[in-house]
Amino acid sequence: MSIVVAKTAGFCYGVKRAVNEVYDRALKKEEHIATLGKLIHNRQVVEDLEKMGVKAYDCVEDVPEGVRLVIRTHGVAKDVIEKIEKKNISYVDLTCPFVEKIHKIVKEYYEKGYKIVIIGDGNHPEVQGINGWCNNEGIIVYSCDEAILDKISEKRVCIVAQTTINRENFEQVIQFIKKTCQGAVVFDTICNATKDRQSETLHLAEESDIMIVVGGKESSNTRKLYEISRKRCPLTFHIETFEDLPQNINYKNKKIGITAGASTPSRIIEEVFTVMDEMTRNEQGMDFAQMIEESIKTLNTGDVVTGTVVEVRNNEVIVDLGFKSDGILAADQLTDDPYLKPSDIVKVGDQIDVFIVGVNDAEGKTVLSRKRLVAMENWKKIKEAYESKTILEGKVIQVVKGGVIALTEGNKVFIPARQASERFIQDLSTLLNANVKFRIIELDEKRKRVIGSVRSVLEEERKGLEEKFWASAEVGKEYTGTVKSVTAFGAFVDIGGVDGLVHISELSWSKIKHPSEIVKEGDVLTVYIKDINKETKKIALGYKKQEDNPWLVAQAKYNVGDVVSCKIVRMVPFGAFAEIIPNVDGLIHISQISDKRIGKPEDVLSIGQVVDAKITDLNWENKKISLSIKALIAPAAEAAEEAHEEAAEESIQEQE
Ligand code: SF4
Repeated sequence: MSIVVAKTAGFCYGVKRAVNEVYDRALKKEEHIATLGKLIHNRQVVEDLEKMGVKAYDCVEDVPEGVRLVIRTHGVAKDVIEKIEKKNISYVDLTCPFVEKIHKIVKEYYEKGYKIVIIGDGNHPEVQGINGWCNNEGIIVYSCDEAILDKISEKRVCIVAQTTINRENFEQVIQFIKKTCQGAVVFDTICNATKDRQSETLHLAEESDIMIVVGGKESSNTRKLYEISRKRCPLTFHIETFEDLPQNINYKNKKIGITAGASTPSRIIEEVFTVMDEMTRNEQGMDFAQMIEESIKTLNTGDVVTGTVVEVRNNEVIVDLGFKSDGILAADQLTDDPYLKPSDIVKVGDQIDVFIVGVNDAEGKTVLSRKRLVAMENWKKIKEAYESKTILEGKVIQVVKGGVIALTEGNKVFIPARQASERFIQDLSTLLNANVKFRIIELDEKRKRVIGSVRSVLEEERKGLEEKFWASAEVGKEYTGTVKSVTAFGAFVDIGGVDGLVHISELSWSKIKHPSEIVKEGDVLTVYIKDINKETKKIALGYKKQEDNPWLVAQAKYNVGDVVSCKIVRMVPFGAFAEIIPNVDGLIHISQISDKRIGKPEDVLSIGQVVDAKITDLNWENKKISLSIKALIAPAAEAAEEAHEEAAEESIQEQE
């Protein structure tokens, strides 16, 4: 048995262009595609498109709002375009350019006053569309018919042909019309694709024992191929798919020719060829039904399958799915990283799980996505996290109206402003690029919308810390905390889940007017609990250190009898206070300022004056130090007197 497939079998230029365009748009799912009439006369393609949501409407009136309407290769009448535009329907005109050319001819000659004659099938949409460009006044003729001649009485006649009409038929009708209308303008508008296909079919049929014509039963050009073939090869069969192959025929040692109409997908032709080819090679004697069974396995959009990488190209990866055709995984469906090439990610022989985005049955192309699969897995994780209230981690990647977007597990999560923190955040851009922990609080499966809350996590964390704190808190315990706010009476410090107050008096050993002289918001301090009330949850904190207490410093340094250099800092009627070291003052009683009687301290001393004084008494308990300047003057006066007396005695002795 030998099998020859006609070179011209399958999609013509116009059909291929239209089918690819519709599949591409449908696969992208960016718009709702519909067709005006079935896209092509092929049941399998139409059904496949229907599965992808591409519905065919018979008339413009039935087309709903919001769809992108496709005008198929056959074209439509002028008034149909007007109706579409009047209804404000967005449309894609995929009329085959060869058909469009006929529309132009008809319109032009009709407007010049010619009578239009269309040689073709009056029931075919292409012919009806052409007639619509001469106000439906054209004469449609399929074969030589005497009655037609009566209608064509005008001298000015323009003749065009349906693109897929049988050439022999066309020429006969032209001769027939020219009998009465010799000046007719004739346009041979039979499409070359049709011409070549018919001519090849004729020759193939002449050389074959059995001819298989593949194509839709409604397809006019397929029916014509069948008619042409049958004239030369009586064993001609018109089938739609390999399942229609006649089973009671003896194919052994026969020459078989296969041809197909312009609307037959190459996949269907390949299937027919494969099944017949298998029959010739089947040494095991597998029967026909078994072979059909084997061939019938198909992939469906949405399936997840494991395939083997068979080729890695620059912009795509070819994956063997173990089915009829290989899958194509475009680079942008493999990864989001524009810097990675497919070869950086996979190599030939790798097993890879892929998501079936779409099966373009017409072209035998299976479009794959790895990203979609990853997205599905990620979505599953998000759903599980939502159901189990698990805390997720993500990075803030965008500030949007009313909140921020965080990316986690490949999913974008919207975090509303009020959920972005425990406290109001004036400028959300401060969160950009921050890593945040959040919990999913809302999930819309249908719209794939997820809402997260950072606040919920922070509140929970705070609660946990609070419980831990109160369980172990005790007076004297030290903490490292952060100043949360500063007020006139002190600073509030977060010591790990709870805030305590450091009173202004506890901030410094020196006298200060405002806590801000010592601390500011955000400062990290080491504090200790001075007082605690677990019932009212109030904590008083201490900050200044005992070892820095100036009275203790002074106590360690000074004793009664020591002479200190001190600065007069304050005058009172009964004496003057002098600073010995910062924050430690002693009193020089008025009686101890001079060895002479004085009215008031200012008579002898002034503020800021530095004097030497002797410590005459120390009372650390009551923080009292007594000083005396006089105590330093008296011994000096006594010494001078003694020296004076000694000198006088020496003088008397010399006179004697
Ligand atoms: S058969 Fe010719 S005219 Fe018709 S769609 Fe195909 S290419 Fe266009």
